[in-house]
Amino acid sequence: MSAGGTIVVVGAGQAGFQAAASLREAGFDGSLTIVGDEPVAPYQRPPLSKAYLAGKATAGTLALRPASFYADHRIALRLGTRAAALDRAGRQVALASGERLAYDHLILATGARNRPLPVPGADLAGVLQLRTLADADSIQARLAGVETVVVVGAGFIGLEFAAVAAARAIAVTVVEAAGSVMSRAVSQATSAFFRQAHEAAGIRFVLGASAERIAGADGRVTAVETTDGRSLPADLVLVGIGVVPNADLAAEAGLAVADGILVDHTLLTSDPAVSAIGDCAVFPSPFAGRAPTRIESVQNAVDQARCVAARLTGRAAPYAALPWFWSDQGRLKLQIAGLARPHDRAVTRGDPATGAFSVFCYRHGHLVGVESVNRPADHMIARRLIAERLPLAPEQAADPAFDLRALVRAAAAA
Ligand code: FAD
Ligand code: NAD
Repeated sequence: MSAGGTIVVVGAGQAGFQAAASLREAGFDGSLTIVGDEPVAPYQRPPLSKAYLAGKATAGTLALRPASFYADHRIALRLGTRAAALDRAGRQVALASGERLAYDHLILATGARNRPLPVPGADLAGVLQLRTLADADSIQARLAGVETVVVVGAGFIGLEFAAVAAARAIAVTVVEAAGSVMSRAVSQATSAFFRQAHEAAGIRFVLGASAERIAGADGRVTAVETTDGRSLPADLVLVGIGVVPNADLAAEAGLAVADGILVDHTLLTSDPAVSAIGDCAVFPSPFAGRAPTRIESVQNAVDQARCVAARLTGRAAPYAALPWFWSDQGRLKLQIAGLARPHDRAVTRGDPATGAFSVFCYRHGHLVGVESVNRPADHMIARRLIAERLPLAPEQAADPAFDLRALVRAAAAA
């Protein structure tokens, strides 16, 4: 695409914002519009379940850029506006209002939505989910006065929320369908460490069970009845059982979808005039083995946006950024480099009893992921080790005297 033309971005989240910002940075001079159905300008979601909920950040500090940024960079922000349909033949986006926006290239950055809990009582007042600023505000408004919380799902949202609630002296029970916490994302060693740390902070876990029914009185939640026969009292229930990618718009327009919008190694959909990025995109990753993958993280949203902006301004390259993640849970900072699951061997560097350690995960003899708890230096080195595929034997990784930094330095000098 030339330096001009018209680009429309659907989705005013982390990926949509970054695509527009990177396009301007790369010299795109044409018309640029972001369509977003939330009523607020693009903001960071990670603090919603951490500092914002803990009362340590305000809505103003979440904005990715001040309002003036969009005017200064000639980015038209259409907020509170839903893209209802795509006319691919006519290269137009139909908005819910009936208005149509023409495009030369369309970037779908529609993200994901929370998976609903399909049980009776899930619609009672006090049963909440967390994805948006509006969700966080409604949780915050109800937290004052709450004494007992049940969290359904021990993933990132569930555990981050549980840590914030426990710190406010609220009694927290977490109900998780799997046999361990964060099982989708981390090794058994890291999972067990986090469970114990949360238990030490007073959080109770019910593993291998789910919510079967939510009981209430006068339209408000009073308890969660579990599949293993318990009745857990609750003034508030937080459901964090994963997300569903927003791929309906793409599917209805005939684009290829399968648990997300399918894209190639340059993040193009089955239509060469349409790209897809962020939580909604399923892509081939050199770090995920053979199967296409979908990654729900800020790093992925930002790096995919940059990759598409570079392609649209004449610097096409395959998307090959190393995935990395973080999660703050109470005083514990978890950082993950690479995609550790599945792995067939894991070794620990450092002593978990000190509260600071890293788990190095191997698949078929190759280092594929490193989980660091309160060891940020390990995390930064791990990113290099995995991205550059530097050889590191499990015995070396586990040996605290083995100098990882020297290994990376030697590789850089070679
Ligand atoms: P989103 O940020 O979801 O943005 C998509 C936007 O598109 C949304 O505003 C949506 O409403 C809008 N949209 C969808 N369909 C339409 C339509 N048809 N028309 C108009 N607009 C539409 N990741 C980390 O790496 N670290 C963290 O610590 C972390 N913490 C998180 C905490 C919380 C509470 C949540 C919810 C997520 C967290 N994440 C974290 C995940 C991270 O925020 C997401 O991976 C990231 O926001 C994905 O960006 P995205 O732009 O693809 O999707
Ligand atoms: P998740 O997929 O991380 O965890 C969901 C958990 O719920 C899993 O452990 C799963 O086994 C469990 N579960 C599923 N169905 C259940 C049921 N019926 N009953 C009990 N447990 C059930 O998803 P999440 O924690 O809901 O997070 C939502 C999104 O927000 C994800 O995209 C996540 O990556 C993102 N997020 C990321 C971070 C981070 O990276 N630090 C923090 C918060 C949220």
